[in-house]
Amino acid sequence: MPKNAQCPASDTEICRWLGKECEDCYISSLKHKEDMEKAVSDFRVTLSLLPEDFDSLQGEECCFCVGDVKKPRAGYAVIDLAHSEPEARKGMFFGFGKKVRVRVGSLMPVSISICRDCRRALRMVDYIKWIVTAAFVGLGIGLCFIPAINAIPALPYGVVIAAFLVGYVISRVVSDAYMKRKSKQTVFNVFDIPVCRKMQEAGWFTIQDSGSATRFIMSRKSYTKKISGLRDAVDEASAKIENTPESKD
Ligand SMILES: [Zn+2]
Ligand SMILES: [Zn+2]
Repeated sequence: MPKNAQCPASDTEICRWLGKECEDCYISSLKHKEDMEKAVSDFRVTLSLLPEDFDSLQGEECCFCVGDVKKPRAGYAVIDLAHSEPEARKGMFFGFGKKVRVRVGSLMPVSISICRDCRRALRMVDYIKWIVTAAFVGLGIGLCFIPAINAIPALPYGVVIAAFLVGYVISRVVSDAYMKRKSKQTVFNVFDIPVCRKMQEAGWFTIQDSGSATRFIMSRKSYTKKISGLRDAVDEASAKIENTPESKD
């Protein structure tokens, strides 16, 4: 990491956590020293809100498998978790398109190891909702071809809307039944994963409330930096500086 005497993050775990060259770093983009210091202390607060076993979410084994046998990781399920700390300044409130505003001080993309089977089960929940709803809308459109319905103005619209609403409700019932059946093998809610439940108890929450099944983004790679070794790295770095006379970068 480049050493920057002007930067309060220089040679700290925060600089390592951010893992950026100073030119690309959020902290060095701030103009005032107080803002930089505030940013560093804010990042410290965010890191302090993570449980010690946070990195285990990215292990070799699936975190969604229920029972003793955890299948090998096939990828990551990614979800943004938010926390109200550190206190956001005025004007830093996020609305997320909702009337009720949620205060977000920390936002952390959490990548969680997932196996092939659990990934399929999680995707299926969404898939069922789409397919069932689409089937009912298709049925509604089909009904509009019946002359008796077709002849009455505006009725076809009503039929399609009604079909959509019925389909929507039934799709929820079907996907809930699917989840119930699969819940012996797979966890569907992020906060049913022990490490994440610990985070929830520490005040972390999902921005989009999505009911019993959490909506993840599936990814091949992890979007989450590990917290292990941040402290050790600081000691290592300072030891290196003592030993190396004047090294640039
Ligand atoms: Zn820096
Ligand atoms: Zn699994």
